[in-house]
Amino acid sequence: MAMPTQVIVSASAEQPRWGFDASHPLAEVVARLHRAHGDASTTRNIGMVACAQCWEQAIRADERLAVEFELPALDIDPDYVDTVAVERACKSDTSAVRLTPAERRTAVAKLTAQGLTLNQICRRLRIASRDVRSIQGGGRSGQSLRLAIRHSKAVAR
Ligand SMILES: [Zn+2]
Repeated sequence: MAMPTQVIVSASAEQPRWGFDASHPLAEVVARLHRAHGDASTTRNIGMVACAQCWEQAIRADERLAVEFELPALDIDPDYVDTVAVERACKSDTSAVRLTPAERRTAVAKLTAQGLTLNQICRRLRIASRDVRSIQGGGRSGQSLRLAIRHSKAVAR
């Protein structure tokens, strides 16, 4: 099970966005694992979080889960859109589906493209008209709305 440190470090080349430190999405899990085996020393830890074995264990477990549930591995893209959640939110009878900002943008774009009015969109997604307008007005950027519209059309197909 033990993996040489250099193998783990080289694996980070495949995920250049995440270093193996406290900002890694699995860092909390890794730190918990590490505490559980009672090794309090931090000198040989990677990223001041945990030893190589704990990093490996957490990352392997995460990959296994991802495979088992057919999830994208380590899905931490803030622009990731759960299309099922968006679909649910866009149906009027929803019991408040929680959407991420990216999903909300997609849902607003989708309903806008369907010709719904501002008020209808607010009611359906249960968000303030100010928020809908800011998304329709471009949100973070006009491009993200265009992307969201394109995405929602692709989903509707
Ligand atoms: Zn450890």
